[in-house]
Amino acid sequence: MTLTRLIFLGPPGAGKGTQAKFIAQLQNIPHISTGEMLRQAIEEKTALGIQAQDYLDQGELVPNELVQEMVKERLNKPDAQTGWILDGFPRTIPQATFLEELLLEISQGKEQAINLDVPDEVLITRLLARGRKDDSREVISRRLEVYRAETAPLIDYYSDRQKLIVVDGNQPEASVTAALNQIIAPNHS
Ligand code: ADP
Repeated sequence: MTLTRLIFLGPPGAGKGTQAKFIAQLQNIPHISTGEMLRQAIEEKTALGIQAQDYLDQGELVPNELVQEMVKERLNKPDAQTGWILDGFPRTIPQATFLEELLLEISQGKEQAINLDVPDEVLITRLLARGRKDDSREVISRRLEVYRAETAPLIDYYSDRQKLIVVDGNQPEASVTAALNQIIAPNHS
């Protein structure tokens, strides 16, 4: 039985969300976006949302412990037992080691990371066009800085573990989807 457990890496604006949603639908597995979960928590003014708000507004990362707990709960839910796509997590090396240990603990191995590769100048144009609340020019450049410092090292992390697949994200959306479909094994759960 091959289960799809995919981690979508890539800078903000790489198209992770769009592609992750699409593949998740196709495979009938949950699309787990930590950014979306946090934005929802903020909207609902939950304890987590109140703690996370300032970080999101400023383009900073929410503290590891908060996000890790949220992901742990989510991966333990019944619908995550037949596979999942993680979008926006892990974003730091400590989060990656946390995930590795968590997956061992809950017997969910064989995860793979997909890096959507897109040049910086394309990212900025795309993010400005998207116009989300946390997409002002200032916040965007901070998020790219944080990405380079904290998240880009995950490319080597997964490559060292032979778990990395690189996909060119600088092509039309449908071509990216086609490339991903070719790589990802069908979900036989
Ligand atoms: P993007 O669409 O730019 O990739 P996301 O929707 O994934 O952004 O995340 C938006 C914001 O949520 C981030 O800028 C960060 O503040 C917070 N966030 C999301 N995932 C994480 C995470 N794994 N660790 C810390 N903060 C996170």
